[in-house]
Amino acid sequence: MTAPGPVWGELVGQEAAVRVLVEAAAGARALIDGPRGEGDGAPATDDRNGAASADSRSMSHAWLITGPPGSGRSVAARAFAAALQCTGPEPGCGRCPGCRTTMGRTNGDVRFVATEGSIITTQTARGLVHQAQSAPSQGRWLVIVVEDADRLNEQGANALLKAIEEPPERTVWVLCAPSPEDMIQTIRSRCRHLGLRIPRAQAVADLLVREGAADAATALESARAAQSHIGLARALARDPQMRRRRREIIAAPVRVRSVGEAVFAADRLLETAKEQAEAQTAERDARERAELMRQLGVEDGEAVARQSRGLLRSLEEDQKRRQKRALNDALDRALVDLLAIYRDVLMIQLSTGQELVNTDLADLVAELAGDSRPRQTMERIASIEDARRRLLANGNPLLVLEAMAISLRPQV
Ligand SMILES: [Zn+2]
Repeated sequence: MTAPGPVWGELVGQEAAVRVLVEAAAGARALIDGPRGEGDGAPATDDRNGAASADSRSMSHAWLITGPPGSGRSVAARAFAAALQCTGPEPGCGRCPGCRTTMGRTNGDVRFVATEGSIITTQTARGLVHQAQSAPSQGRWLVIVVEDADRLNEQGANALLKAIEEPPERTVWVLCAPSPEDMIQTIRSRCRHLGLRIPRAQAVADLLVREGAADAATALESARAAQSHIGLARALARDPQMRRRRREIIAAPVRVRSVGEAVFAADRLLETAKEQAEAQTAERDARERAELMRQLGVEDGEAVARQSRGLLRSLEEDQKRRQKRALNDALDRALVDLLAIYRDVLMIQLSTGQELVNTDLADLVAELAGDSRPRQTMERIASIEDARRRLLANGNPLLVLEAMAISLRPQV
């Protein structure tokens, strides 16, 4: 197979998934244009009919793309949609009108359904089912991408069920969710499942360098710090202040000597997590707001008409909920970073000879290793794990972090 076309470029570290989607897009093309290789002098041993039917089988009318936050579910869905609309030499050429309009989200045959509520309502789902019945205007595929399919309520999911089970000939559903378990079983069993992995830090770093976001070393440091969350890694790579702050914040609880310092460190940890969460959601929030304003016909600086305020309010509430989730994610990442420091400390104390995770904080790690015993380090690891559990169980973030920071103090 030739190298995948340019539309797949943003999907980093997902070679296996890209292969599946490229093959499916080629199969989809074979369904429309007829099998490839006709009259190209293919050797007689190549069973062309067999190859054509294998091609068509690689295509499915319903896909479920899953992966952890930041792994690129929507990016994969969009690239796949582009490859389906592509009329270039290889599906996903990035240059033909089909690719360009899909990547720019202006292709009339590709519908992106972003969540407008904490749930996708039954009404929205029914609307999609209705849309799914129409024929593609450009004569290729009608693609419906549901970006947060895990937010379909059960009724909504049931409404989609029949449409997914017996889709019109030229309709393709692409549902995106964090994990297959987020979808009801009946939907899951009718979709072809494609799981995205957490990409390797190096793969994310390579993307950032290609984008011109940072030099190679900074890109790798950012990718590691973001634990391969692409959006966060990008934000870190572009912003030296954000990187410096992250290092300070991670190091602060470790250096705590008194209760006062613990309270202060906890507070800063929370503030930084909030900033990170905002950096992650701000762009999408602004885009959604602009889109809503456009739909309502409101110009910049104009007041929103009374009857439209409900819509704006509900968007703002959704965004608030999403910020809360992003904050929880950012807090958990901070604690995982902190854990990584004490694991490094333990490796030195136990002389395991393994490579450090926190190369940029090697001094701090060495200092801690010299100042404490392995048993203390393990107790600290346990108290960070405990804090993670309490946060997941919806504990008050500030109180949980304070208690944790206090327990990290050196014992006298
Ligand atoms: Zn193309």
